[in-house]
Formats: sequence, C-alpha cells, structure tokens
Amino acid sequence: MDKNMFASDNYSGVCPEAWQAMMVANDGYANSYGDDIWTAKACDALRDFFETDCQVFFAFNGTAANSLALASLCRSYHSIICHDMAHVETDECGAVEFFSNGTKVLLVGGDEGKIDPAAVTHTVERRSDIHYPKPKVLSITQATELGTVYSIDELQAVGELAKHHQLKLHMDGARFSNALATLGVPAAELTWKAGVDVLTFGGTKNGMPVGEAVVFFDKSLAEEFDYRCKQAGQLASKMRYLAAPWVGMLEQGTLLKNAAHANKCAKLLAEQLLNVDGVTLMHQVQANAVFVQMPETLVEALHAAGWHFYTFIGSGHARFMCSWQSKEDDILQFGTELKKLAASL
Ligand SMILES: *Cc1c(COP(=O)(O)O)cnc(C)c1O
Repeated sequence: MDKNMFASDNYSGVCPEAWQAMMVANDGYANSYGDDIWTAKACDALRDFFETDCQVFFAFNGTAANSLALASLCRSYHSIICHDMAHVETDECGAVEFFSNGTKVLLVGGDEGKIDPAAVTHTVERRSDIHYPKPKVLSITQATELGTVYSIDELQAVGELAKHHQLKLHMDGARFSNALATLGVPAAELTWKAGVDVLTFGGTKNGMPVGEAVVFFDKSLAEEFDYRCKQAGQLASKMRYLAAPWVGMLEQGTLLKNAAHANKCAKLLAEQLLNVDGVTLMHQVQANAVFVQMPETLVEALHAAGWHFYTFIGSGHARFMCSWQSKEDDILQFGTELKKLAASL
C-alpha cells in the first residue's frame, strides 16, 4: 500500500481519460498559444457543461487562476472579502495581492469553512469613507477548504448578498466537481444561476496532469484577461495539452465520475477512522476530505508507521484526502492497520 495516498488529492496521478485525451491531441502539429482546435473544443465543452455562453481561459495552476481572476474584478484600492481559511488567503503566498497590485483581502469567519453572511455585511457596511479599501469582490470556495459544501440555498443566499452589496462574486472551484457530485444538480445551478461571475474550475485535483480553467460568466469582466495571463507567465504555448484533458473528461463525464468516486471513498475512510476510540470528526464529510481529531499519540504512531497526512490545514487536526485514484480495498486495509495501531498504544 502506498502510504502517501491520503496526503492530498494532488498526490494522485493522471487519470486514464485525461492521459488518453492528451495522446489523441499529440498527433502532429497544432497552432500554439491557444489558437488550436483542442482549446476551441475545450471552451465549447465548458460552455455546454455550464449551459451558457461563458468565456474560458486556461492557467497552469489554481493560484494563478484564482489571483488573475480576482485581479480582473477589482482595482488596487478595492478589497476582496473571503473566509479566513480561504486558499486565496492562507495558501497562495500573497499572489492575489501581487497580481492585483495591492488589493487588500479582508477576512470574515464562518462555520464549516463557509462565509458568515452577517460578517460580510458588517465588513462592507462598517465604513464608507475614503480611507477604507472599498469592498468590491466576494470570494467563496466550493467545495470548501474544510471539505464541506455550500447547499444550493446557501449559494443563492450568497449570490443575493453579493448583489445587495454590489460585490462581484468569485468562486474558487479547485474542488468544484466534488461539490457538484455531492449536490447532484446541473453545474449552472451552482454558478451563474446563483450569481457567480467568475469560477476558477479545478482540473488538477480531479485527475488532470496540470491546469485549471477560468470561467467568466459575465463576459464583460474578461476584457483583456488574455493579456493578464500572458504577463503572468500563464499563457501556455502548447496550450493543447492543457485543453485536451478537459475535452476528453467532459465528453466522457469523467470529472463527475472521478469526483463521485473520491467523495464515496472519503465517506468510507471516515467510517474507518471513526471506528477507532478517541477519533472524532471535525467537519461534515461532504466532499473528498476527512478532518478528524485524534490523540497525539495516534498521530505520531501513524506518522512513524509511514502514513503521510497533514495536520496544519484548515482548522488544524488531521486531514485525509481521497481522489479518483483511491481504492476502497486500500481504505479498508488502512482501517484494519489503524485499529491495530491504536490498540497497541
Ligand atoms: C489546491 C487548491 C487550489 C490550487 O492550488 P495550486 O497549488 O496553486 O494549484 C486553490 N484553491 C483551493 C481551495 C485548493 O485546495
């Protein structure tokens, strides 16, 4: 058993459908910098997927996709409101401030990794003078950093909140497919129909080798976004290799299949973990993450036995991730080993 399997969903490899799509796209010559048939097909496939005429770009990773998308929504004297555990705030090394030339990020709290609407209102309304960085964008993460999922009702409320305060709405969808698989509704319901202006749509953690899509539902916001990508070093010259996995995976329904599998595995993994005395669940398991609190001795014993998992993410404690590559048998075997280990302490 590979003891790295729960460390992160980006420890997984490339899924067969993405690999196959890249092989198909690898035939002969193709125009560069996105002027190729694969990029055109991927954009069309995403428009079909979202059932709307959105504008699509591809970036190498989520940090770039998030920060360039957010930078396109505001000016340097504006502010972006997000959860204090948002990836944008905690895991992107200040990229959004950098690419937006200093736009301030204002943090709000909220249970289960979801923004507290009252805190957003307070942040917007507490000041209206010229000395305060003008709130311009609300950024939420779906599925959240804590492995929870905003329900449709919650999303609609967030959309209305943003509209009420005249904030643009950005969604960090590094694990958007996991949320989609959980809610079982069309992608449109989770995005533009709920008021999302821009989505950064994760491919990597779902099974692609590299690449995230930036999807503008409000096309007016995408003006000159291609220049932003180029300047930031995010315009792939052999763009077909970023685009082709989207074509193959959307055609075959792989994004949802992979996400549903990862989510199912996380539920199974949670059962195994909770089977052990002293292990408690930190957050609801609604996507592909399991956060548990466990005795420090057990954390140490697992680490000593070679199991790799992080304990500093989100609100701390132990995080275990599943992916398209997770195997139910491995999870059951881990459960057996965990029980034995816990009994020996
Ligand atoms: C992984 C992740 C990203 C993207 O991170 P990169 O390492 O830059 O690709 C963005 N947002 C969330 C919530 C993530 O988990």
